[in-house]
Amino acid sequence: PGSGTGTDPGTDPGTGTGTGTGTGTGTEIVMIESRSVFRRRRFHRAKAHLVLSAMRHRAAELGDRVRYVRAETYREGLARAVGDAPVTVHHPTSHAALRFVRSLEQVTVLPARGFLVPAEDFAAWAGERDGDGSSARTGAPTTERAGADGDRGRAGGRLRMEDFYRAVRRRHRLLMDGDEPAGGRWNLDRENREPPPRGEALPVPPPYRPREDAIDEEVRRDLDRWEAEGAVSFTGRDGPRLFPATRAEARRALRRFTGERLGSFGPWEDAVLAGDWAMSHSLLSPALNLGLLDPAECVAAAEDAYRTGSAPLNSAEGFVRQIAGWREYMWHLYWWFGDGYRRANALGHREPLPRWFDELDAGAVTARCLSTALAGVRDRGWTHHIPRLMILGNWALLHGWHPRAVTDWFHRSFADGYDWVMLPNVVGMSQYADGGRLTTKPYLCGGAYINRMSDLCGGCAYRPDRRTGERACPFTAGYWAFLDRHRERLAHHPRMARSVNGLDRLRDLPELRRKEEARGDGPP
Ligand code: FAD
Repeated sequence: PGSGTGTDPGTDPGTGTGTGTGTGTGTEIVMIESRSVFRRRRFHRAKAHLVLSAMRHRAAELGDRVRYVRAETYREGLARAVGDAPVTVHHPTSHAALRFVRSLEQVTVLPARGFLVPAEDFAAWAGERDGDGSSARTGAPTTERAGADGDRGRAGGRLRMEDFYRAVRRRHRLLMDGDEPAGGRWNLDRENREPPPRGEALPVPPPYRPREDAIDEEVRRDLDRWEAEGAVSFTGRDGPRLFPATRAEARRALRRFTGERLGSFGPWEDAVLAGDWAMSHSLLSPALNLGLLDPAECVAAAEDAYRTGSAPLNSAEGFVRQIAGWREYMWHLYWWFGDGYRRANALGHREPLPRWFDELDAGAVTARCLSTALAGVRDRGWTHHIPRLMILGNWALLHGWHPRAVTDWFHRSFADGYDWVMLPNVVGMSQYADGGRLTTKPYLCGGAYINRMSDLCGGCAYRPDRRTGERACPFTAGYWAFLDRHRERLAHHPRMARSVNGLDRLRDLPELRRKEEARGDGPP
């Protein structure tokens, strides 16, 4: 860890590539800071700051073992650093980056780092289940081949996260007592869906907060200068850095989480409080995705907390499930589904992102849940899972925004966003653009769910139980309008049919239709 896996010449700022030149113990590292990446996409400033800070901190640690090049492009940087000498690179984290490094004759691509499950193991597992089955018959492909070959056959619901997760638990002996899951059950989700307790914040110690140093100051000065020169422009606020930029900081963050916060992670995993942006979440995704933490040490620390009695099983299992289940699953599906997955648009959604959303203009939004979530993105480049899925992503889905534009927005706006993690989470999980290859149903909700799982409806101008009228909740109205629009497609869906049938009971449906059509794309 520390050499980074968040490399992406095509789409992401910076690269922690850790490219080695030469052989043996004298191996040198090449790191390239590419300016053109920042021109191509309008990133959140806190994200640009974090990535540059992590790279420059790593370079400072490596001292004269690193050739650190600031260049316009990766190609130019590599030429300046090593000419055409041979280099090795760990498997990059995007299709574009993989194509790029493969196009260079001097580069040897090593296996990916930063994940528990090797490509071959996933291919063997998925090959037995996936629709076209080619992998099982032709020998386990590497995930790279899956990407290069284009799309796999339909997962057809047979690639199930729960099955994968159990296989990972068994194979890696995570939270196992002999051949059985610790505590006798694989899944403790039911205990992990509690609404938030009363009060402004959870009764837990605050998350770890890094201290900025001279490198952060230099990064901030550079970003100011680039913006002033008009060369690049960012969204969001670059407040004090919230996430680890070094291995030492990342280890402290992990210790703080597993030692003091993990205990309450489970029950309130899905809950949202207006006054508590972090809740009991680990905030470790940026460090994991930068390669500053290894997933194995994260799950080991959580298991240790359970075995030594400092965290209950539902919290430890909930956390292990996120890392060893969801994170691994998303990584492998990114390659398994192939590059064409980014073009999926099963619902035919075409609306562009409105300006207020793109600009993170939380102040323009009246609906308190959306305004709070958007303000979180603006101020920190991070919100926890439920605001991402059930507020921000849900709003985009309900209003038919183009899944590619939504994916791009999440990618640019979140400190932990990289192509590999965006595609499955946004195209698949959040926007249902893949028509159900990754999830069994669209994740959408009206105000009732938000009201149950948060305190956000309390001080809101709208009422979660109203569909029409002056105080109609825009999420509730949007929910019914979505079902109405997609009625035909969803009427026979085993997990949606009941909701769709509910449309027949709405006497105000004509009024709701009229209002939604007239709504426009202004902030709700
Ligand atoms: P915790 O709640 O503490 O969970 C622990 C860890 O589990 C996370 O750090 C993360 O590494 C992993 N994890 C959990 N769920 C997922 C998942 N679905 N996919 C991948 N890893 C997961 N995660 C990212 O790392 N980067 C993203 O850009 C990203 N974008 C998302 C966009 C949408 C629309 C949705 C619905 C989810 C997204 N996620 C993303 C997944 C998840 O929301 C974040 O990993 C999590 O909120 C990060 O906060 P945390 O570290 O406190 O996580």
